[in-house]
Amino acid sequence: MLIVMDPQATDEQLQKVREAVEALGFRAEPIPGQQRTAIGVLGNQGYVDDSTIRELAGVREVIHVSKPYKMVSRDFHPESTRVRVGAFEIGGGAAPVIMAGPCSIESEEQMMRAAREVKAAGAHILRGGAFKPRTGPHSFQGLGEQGLKFLRQAGDETAMPVITEVMRIEQLELVSRYSDVLQIGARNMQNFDLLKEVGKFGKPVLLKRGMSATLEEFLGAAEYIVAEGNDQVILCERGIRTFERATRNSLDLSVVPLLHEMSHLPVIVDPSHATGKRSLVPVMSKAALVAGADGLMIEVHPEPEKALCDGAQSLTGDGFSQLMQEMQSLMKYLGY
Ligand code: PEP
Ligand code: MN
Repeated sequence: MLIVMDPQATDEQLQKVREAVEALGFRAEPIPGQQRTAIGVLGNQGYVDDSTIRELAGVREVIHVSKPYKMVSRDFHPESTRVRVGAFEIGGGAAPVIMAGPCSIESEEQMMRAAREVKAAGAHILRGGAFKPRTGPHSFQGLGEQGLKFLRQAGDETAMPVITEVMRIEQLELVSRYSDVLQIGARNMQNFDLLKEVGKFGKPVLLKRGMSATLEEFLGAAEYIVAEGNDQVILCERGIRTFERATRNSLDLSVVPLLHEMSHLPVIVDPSHATGKRSLVPVMSKAALVAGADGLMIEVHPEPEKALCDGAQSLTGDGFSQLMQEMQSLMKYLGY
C-alpha cells in the first residue's frame, strides 16, 4: 500500500500517518519526492483496511499495490534511481555506461590484454567471470580467487571499476573484496537467500533477468535486494528462452522502455548472451541505446576463437572499437 500525502502536508501530519501505519503492525517508509511525499507501507501480506489512515489530515490518496514488488516500482518512487560505480552514474538520464570484457577470466595475460583493448576503445567498466555458471560440470568453471586477482589488477592498471558474478552466499565476502559491482547471473535470479544477502552488503548489484522470468518475477527479485536497504540495483535484460533456436536467446528489447515505466531502477542490455552471435551484437547494442538502455554489457575477447567460454558471441578488440565509435555518434544523436 502506498499513501500519497498532499504537497502541503506538514511534518507533524506525516508523523501521525507513520504512527497509524505502525499501530496496524506494519513498517512505514517515507519516500520524499519532488512534487509529493508518499509513505510506503511494508510488511503487509494481503489487503490492508485503510479506513484509519484515509481520514488523517494531509492524506491525499491511498493506493493499494497488489504486486510482489513495491520499493522498486515507479508508483512508489517516481524519480529515477542513479547507481554510482566509481566515477560513473548509471540511470536517470546519465550517458549510457559500457561494461566490457571477456566472459571468463582465463589468465593474467588474457585479462590484461582484454582490459587494455576495451579501455582504449572507450569502455567504462571491466567485466570478467571468475565463478562461471556453466550448463555442464565438465566445462571450464572459472579460475576462482586467482581470477578475481587478475580482474582487479587489470581494472586497477587501466583505471576501470570491475564487475564479476557471485554465485553463492559463501563467495560474497571474497568477491566483494575484489569487485566494485556484484553480478547476479540469470540462473540465480530467484536465489532469494543470495538476493537478501547481496542486499545487506551495500555494494551496487547488477541483476540479470532469469531466462524464463516474467517482468513481475524480475522486479520481485530486485525487490528482495532493495528491501534489505540497498537501492543500488541495475536491471539487465540478457535475452529470454523462446521457441526460437536460431539465436541463443530472444532479446526482449521492449522491456527496456517498459521497465522504465514500471520501475525507477536503471536498465541495461547484454546483447552478447541475448543473441549468442558476434555478428548480431553491434546492431542490437545500438538498438538497445535507441530503446533507452542506461548501459550495455558486451563480451570482448582478445582471441575469441581460443576463448574458454562464449567465444562465438565475443567481439574482438577491433570489433568492439568499431562499435564504440558507431555508438559515440549515435549517443550524440540521442542527446547524451
Ligand atoms: C555472463 O555474464 O557471463 C553470464 C553467465 O550471463 P547470464 O547469467 O546472463 O547467462
Ligand atoms: Mn558469458
